[in-house]
Formats: sequence, structure tokens, C-alpha cells
Amino acid sequence: MLKTVTKVCEARKIINEWKKEGFTVGFVPTMGYLHEGHMSLVKKAREQNDKVVVSIFVNPMQFSPNEDLDKYPRDLEADTKLCEENGVDLIIHPQPAEMYPDGFCSFVDMTGPTKELCGKSRPIHFRGVCTVVNKLFNIAQPDRAYFGQKDAQQLSIIKRMVKDLNMPIEIIGCPIIREKDGLAKSSRNKYLNEEERRAALILSKTILMGKQLVENGERNAKVLCDAMRKNIETEPLAKIDYAEAVDFDTIEKIDTLKGTVLVAIAVYIGSTRLIDNFIVTV
Ligand code: AMP
Repeated sequence: MLKTVTKVCEARKIINEWKKEGFTVGFVPTMGYLHEGHMSLVKKAREQNDKVVVSIFVNPMQFSPNEDLDKYPRDLEADTKLCEENGVDLIIHPQPAEMYPDGFCSFVDMTGPTKELCGKSRPIHFRGVCTVVNKLFNIAQPDRAYFGQKDAQQLSIIKRMVKDLNMPIEIIGCPIIREKDGLAKSSRNKYLNEEERRAALILSKTILMGKQLVENGERNAKVLCDAMRKNIETEPLAKIDYAEAVDFDTIEKIDTLKGTVLVAIAVYIGSTRLIDNFIVTV
């Protein structure tokens, strides 16, 4: 039976009981407004663990003042239904006042991998992500935690954080789930009007094009990314934030495709910023 708790002590109590009984815990941190992308993580967690915990928390710390914190979509009722249908055992829906009480002043920060890609246009974002994921790990005490490749830089950063800080948690990356026409599923797709929704296809089309270039032997990162940028520019409603190739583990820019490479793009469609990527081992 699915339970939803808002207080950290309630979550702790339930999870401590499970731990005493020897159950393993799979954890899926989210910001809610759940869709099939989130549910693919839940399904994987369901397969690999005795209990599945989902957190729903729109984390104020990872939004800059000019970003969409207040208008970020929320629908706890629909989220609860989806979680129930997919066999989630516990939703943790903490309140910002308990997560960040007066006097809060401890952070988890990272250098290197947080500086490129999304870190450039969202300079405080990953500090907020690392801090909240740490807090949520301490609350949920999972054996395994599930993150989507949709946010590939985040996945890489969380893997690094867990390794660097000796956290006893296995991080499992899950593939990008897409709409039928190719657009990566995202809570932010809700912001798009009809015309923008059509224009947003330029992201997945560009990813497909990039992938094909690599499959056909392209190894020069600049040539690849220039071609992808040029393709994005064919869409009048699109404005490029970045199109880059980096090493997936270090998120350092590369000249030549070698090892495990993340090719990532961020594009504004109107005022909505969307991301997409592919990972390739060369
Ligand atoms: P969010 O609620 O956007 O913070 O996402 C929560 C988790 O779901 C993150 O690990 C995301 O990478 C993952 N996720 C979101 N959209 C997708 C998608 N389309 N496919 C796979 N994973 C996703």
C-alpha cells in the first residue's frame, strides 16, 4: 500500500522498519509532475529492490532567481496515482521549510564537472542538486538510486559525488524516454504552446543527426558540434544555449571523440529551455 509522508521523521520511521526487516530500498528523486520518464526509473527500481521510494520536491536551491521555481508544474494527486499504479511503496513530499529551515548553511558543492554545459548558464544549479540529493539520500537511506540519462550531466555528477564522498549507494542510470515523435519527455514540455511543441522537435532531430554522424565515423568534436548547431539554427523559434561534446565521466570538453562521450545540447524554444543528449562509447 502506497503511503505519502511530508515529514522527514515519518519517512525515517518507515524506512528504519524496512531496514530492520532486511528489505533493500530503491530511491527515485524527482521534482514531481511525473510522466513515463520518471516511471521508467520506478520500474527499474521495482525490479531491483524490495521497496521503492519516490521523493517529490521542487528544490528551491537549484533554481536561480530568474528561473521557473514558482511556475514549475505541480500535481500531487496525479503523481500519487501514477506512483500507485507503478508499485511505489512510499512518496516523500517534504516541505521547503523543513528542508531549509532558518539558519540552514551547509552545502555540498563540486568543482570540475559542474562548470561546463548547464553549469555555465545555471551557475548555482548543481550546488543545489548535490545538496538536496545528499539530504534526500540521508533521509531515504537507499541501497540504489535511479537517475535518468535525460539529465546526463546530473547523472555524471551524482556518480562522482557518491564516489568522492564514499556514499554506500549504487547509482543506476536509465535511458531517455521519448514521446512518439522523438521529443524527450519532460515536465517542462508543458510550457510549450502548439507552435513551440512542433519547433521543439529540432532537439531530438539534431541528436539523431549527431548520432548518425558519429556512427558514420566523425571523430572531430568541433565538426560534429558545428553541424549540430547549424541544424538547430534551421528552426526559427530555437535559440542555442550550447551544443558540446565532453567526456562523460569528467564533463571536460574534448577535441576528439574517444572513450565514453556525452554529446549534449540545450536550446531555448521561446522562453522554455530544453535539453537532450546522446552518450556514445568510441
Ligand atoms: P525531474 O523531476 O525532472 O527532476 O527528474 C527526476 C528524474 O527523472 C531525473 O533523474 C531525470 O533524469 C529523470 N527523467 C526525467 N525525464 C526523463 C526522461 N524523459 N527519460 C528518463 N528519465 C527522465
